[in-house]
Amino acid sequence: MPAKIYTSPDPSVPIVSRSIFTHLLAIDGDLVGGHPASLPAFVDSASGTTITRAQLRSLALSLGYALRNHPKIGAKRGDVVLVYSQNSLAWPVVVFGSISAGLRTTFANSAYTSRELAHQYTDSRASYVFTTEEGLPTVREMFRTVGVGSAGDEKILLLSSSLAWAGGPDTPRAPHTAGLLRIDDLLSLGKLKEEDKFEGHLAQETVLLCYSSGTTGKPKGVETKHQNLTSVVDMSNLALNYIAGGPILGVLPFYHIYGAVKLLLFPLRCGSPCIIQPRFDPAQFCANIERYKVKLALIVPPIMVVFARHAAVEQYDLTSLKVLISGAAPLGAALTKQVNDRLHARNTNCAIVQGYGLTETSPMTHLLPPQDAERKMGSIGVLLPNLEARLVNEDVDAAEGQPGELWIRGPTVMKGYLNNVEATKEAITPDGWFMTGDVTIRDKEGFYFIVDRRKELIKYKGFQVPPAELESVLLSHPDIADVAVVGVYDAEEATELPRAYVVPAKPQNLSTDIERQTFARDVSSWIQTKVARHKFLRGGVTVIDVVPKSAAGKILRRELRDRAKAELERK
Ligand code: AMP
Repeated sequence: MPAKIYTSPDPSVPIVSRSIFTHLLAIDGDLVGGHPASLPAFVDSASGTTITRAQLRSLALSLGYALRNHPKIGAKRGDVVLVYSQNSLAWPVVVFGSISAGLRTTFANSAYTSRELAHQYTDSRASYVFTTEEGLPTVREMFRTVGVGSAGDEKILLLSSSLAWAGGPDTPRAPHTAGLLRIDDLLSLGKLKEEDKFEGHLAQETVLLCYSSGTTGKPKGVETKHQNLTSVVDMSNLALNYIAGGPILGVLPFYHIYGAVKLLLFPLRCGSPCIIQPRFDPAQFCANIERYKVKLALIVPPIMVVFARHAAVEQYDLTSLKVLISGAAPLGAALTKQVNDRLHARNTNCAIVQGYGLTETSPMTHLLPPQDAERKMGSIGVLLPNLEARLVNEDVDAAEGQPGELWIRGPTVMKGYLNNVEATKEAITPDGWFMTGDVTIRDKEGFYFIVDRRKELIKYKGFQVPPAELESVLLSHPDIADVAVVGVYDAEEATELPRAYVVPAKPQNLSTDIERQTFARDVSSWIQTKVARHKFLRGGVTVIDVVPKSAAGKILRRELRDRAKAELERK
């Protein structure tokens, strides 16, 4: 049977071969990246401190100069820098500064523990770590974990909470940061004449390493190329042309590829200012929409729950909002309708649409056009330009309208998993199809719907929770003999929650229900000392006699998911 290949309804955009820095921040007379140099690029929502496109370019080239030439740094093209920080105005400077010096960046979840951070630091072979005063204790602990100890201080580049470097409010330096290199000091040493170039075939070089478990196993470095990024911003610009320079509000973390591409890169491509709100707070979020006349807000499904219920939605003028894009996790049609009705009742004629994608596809592959928002509620939309899709079951393409695993091919598919040929081969076919692990249906008009997930991954509020990672941490508990982790859906919070089934090492000590419950509670508390918050076992811990496995020893996750569903329905 020949492959059934679907294409996008939109015309392809030209694919360029250059650095993402050149693509977004090249200077040409009064223009930076094709838009007026004086336009605001990034705004710190709390203080209103703004950097323009011209300032961003200049600050980035200054940081690039220091990264290359400071005697204590001396970074070389291709070196990896790790960023461990919550969203802030310093992020775009750090990212574009590093890229201007030809470096690769890897972004770590700002809630990571030192153990989790150590994995990413060593796996990515990072040379330097950008962090904040808040992140410093964990980074120092991480350097102790990897055996570098206090010498690690030499590798730390501190993002201070002061915004004086951007003309914003100054704050005093914290005593525990004395002696560390700070980016504000690095910005005045000199400036690169121009950025490192990645023209022609060099655009295939890796620029970003976000971490994803893929369909199975532990987090792996996803090698995102310059050309992946230049392509995705151009493809998105076509799909999102209605934004036309309107302000974009982002609370998505920059360290997740969704936040990185949609909030750090895409606004520069379309000439929009990005309004940075470091932490989600419903009232602040609505206040920022009113204050900055936000046109597009990028969110995850749990924020939709807030939009459905929170009083702030009634207290602020949200009429500037034209589109809300939810992504990173499934969003149900019922919740969408609830928010849609609530906003429309307050004259906010905003389209609520879903985007879909993966770290491995840089990320967005699908987007629902606003004009179809109500008609196709629950759909992830249509394929982006330049992409091809197949829906496959056991190597056979599904008949039209039938479900199948979504495969994607096109210029935004990653280079591969870092130093992991095996995992790359399992994810990408020899002819370039990336297998998503998500089961979709495509309707007659070309709209896709996610109907199932064939892979292990659990998503808590858009964050990846790889079961294999949690299982390996749980197996290090002396009283646990075997374990399986699965996701259970919580409609109240519109997210999945990780739930563990544990086999005790000494079952003879757990003969009563109370003893089993106490053991389960202890395991739940113990894991909180080991992993970041989004991996806590919020879906519960259940003691079982044996983990169901196939003859080949694979955990029968579907069986456990069905069991969990039944157990929770009984409650
Ligand atoms: P990540 O690599 O962290 O972006 O995770 C990618 C995975 O998130 C996808 O393979 C899906 O399972 C899930 N995902 C992303 N967007 C959506 C969406 N709109 N609807 C359902 N699942 C989604």
